[in-house]
Amino acid sequence: MTEKRGCASIKWKSAALLAAVALMMGGGGCRTAVNPSATLYQYSTIQALIEGVYDGEMTLAQLRRYGDFGIGTFNALDGEMILLDGAFFQIRADGRVYQPPLTAKTPFAAVVPFEPLKSWPLPPGLNYTAFQAWLNERVGGDNVPVAVRVRGRFVRVRTRSVPAQSPPYRRLTEVTRNQPEFAMESIEGSLVGFRLPSYLAGVNVAGYHLHFLAADLSAGGHLLDFETQEGTVEIGRARQLRLDLPETASFDAADLKEGKQADVHAVER
Ligand code: ZN
Repeated sequence: MTEKRGCASIKWKSAALLAAVALMMGGGGCRTAVNPSATLYQYSTIQALIEGVYDGEMTLAQLRRYGDFGIGTFNALDGEMILLDGAFFQIRADGRVYQPPLTAKTPFAAVVPFEPLKSWPLPPGLNYTAFQAWLNERVGGDNVPVAVRVRGRFVRVRTRSVPAQSPPYRRLTEVTRNQPEFAMESIEGSLVGFRLPSYLAGVNVAGYHLHFLAADLSAGGHLLDFETQEGTVEIGRARQLRLDLPETASFDAADLKEGKQADVHAVER
């Protein structure tokens, strides 16, 4: 395990320097010198997506300003989004990976500037459920949003995507009833996503939500299950949250009053 923190990594050369810097920073200490945590940027809400708000105003170019790592979907619900190392990928219902133009728009996404705080070797033989328990033990409490990046080789991976919709839009629970699923074996790739606290349910998926991208860009999608072989797990934390809401008539008109966690569970699992 490795750990690095902005503050702790500063090696003070002398007490005099420490005093001088503290003076410059108004005595605030290193907390004011280094942002201690990334900001999780969230566009629209999972509940709006479930209600069929499939068109947003946010372009990928705009979204990219808030992070280089994240997941989401595209306008008209045209596939699963992965943002990895600053590059966008789109896994459409045909199972293929596309590189969308930065002018493409999203109705729902969560991104963060990925700054790994800790990393571990990925143990072999874990399925998705066992992986979650394994990582939970290492991450500790679940009150802070965690960005999860896994690079490695998998014995098998099962994903899904969603077919592009045309208005009038059906609810997401109806769309995912016939979702195309993809099975891969002996494949190298990355998992990208988040583990979010349960108090963010309604805004995004509480718990784990990961997307897969094959290293050779041959496949990917919303992760349903896997079996690990080898690799590296990295996590970052976000103690700030920014939520932007679409300025659209369909978002304003959507019924977002009630928590519909059973629906979130149905579409994301
Ligand atoms: Zn997803």
